[in-house]
Amino acid sequence: MSAPAPSVIDLVTQHMTRVLYFDLSRYLIAAGALTLLLLVFRGFAENRKIQRGRRPTRADYTRELLSSMRTVGVYAVVTLAILAGRQSGLILLTIRDAALWTIIWQFALMVIAHDAWFYWAHRAMHHKRLFRATHLHHHKSRTPTPWTAYSFTMTEAVIEVAFVPVFLLVTSQLGIAYAGYAILFFIWHQMIRNVMAHAGSELFPAGWVDNPWTSWIATTTHHDLHHSSGHNFGFYFTFWDRWMGTEHPRYRETFREVTTRSRAPEAVAEPAE
Ligand SMILES: [Zn+2]
Ligand SMILES: [Zn+2]
Repeated sequence: MSAPAPSVIDLVTQHMTRVLYFDLSRYLIAAGALTLLLLVFRGFAENRKIQRGRRPTRADYTRELLSSMRTVGVYAVVTLAILAGRQSGLILLTIRDAALWTIIWQFALMVIAHDAWFYWAHRAMHHKRLFRATHLHHHKSRTPTPWTAYSFTMTEAVIEVAFVPVFLLVTSQLGIAYAGYAILFFIWHQMIRNVMAHAGSELFPAGWVDNPWTSWIATTTHHDLHHSSGHNFGFYFTFWDRWMGTEHPRYRETFREVTTRSRAPEAVAEPAE
């Protein structure tokens, strides 16, 4: 006789701390690591600043960090709901034993689907009837920092994270058991691209937007322009903005300008005695 399945309450109490730690640590690790890199390579970061003459204030950092804690809380609740969905059989998940190829195609499918979700949810939140209640808070960060990545209202956090359970419910209905590693890579890829998009300094190499093999992957300038002057609603890719005519008219020029600047003399060497 098999043991009875644990109740949802058992599941929540068993996993709550671990889930909260998982959701909090990836934000702190990704935003912290990028902040450290920008400090270590300060010369590069200063030279590649996208919004010259504007700086995030201490109040910006405080607001971003505090509201990100609320986002972590929302994400943890949704992660627990996904675990409960798996236990009830509504969501099909295989934690181990997935072939590498399965992990790769499932990861790619999830990223492509999330890019579409993000684009359309983001455009909807920019509608004048929704903007104030959902997305204005994220745009208080006019000059983004890696810590802007999770700076959402509670409503926006729910909209952002809802993609994962909705996607898994749909794939489960289609009989696809999602591999745990595919979801893990998706989550980390999302986090890393999110902090990169808010770095404030362009991280992608010069020529990126002019190479047909890379120009479809969105750069830091792409999302930074969204914060400073609108347009560019996409996240990972540039497809949707191109198809829908919402790409910033000076996106490519701005990227080229930022990535081909010569270093200011004072940033290169100390003046001779
Ligand atoms: Zn926006
Ligand atoms: Zn943003």
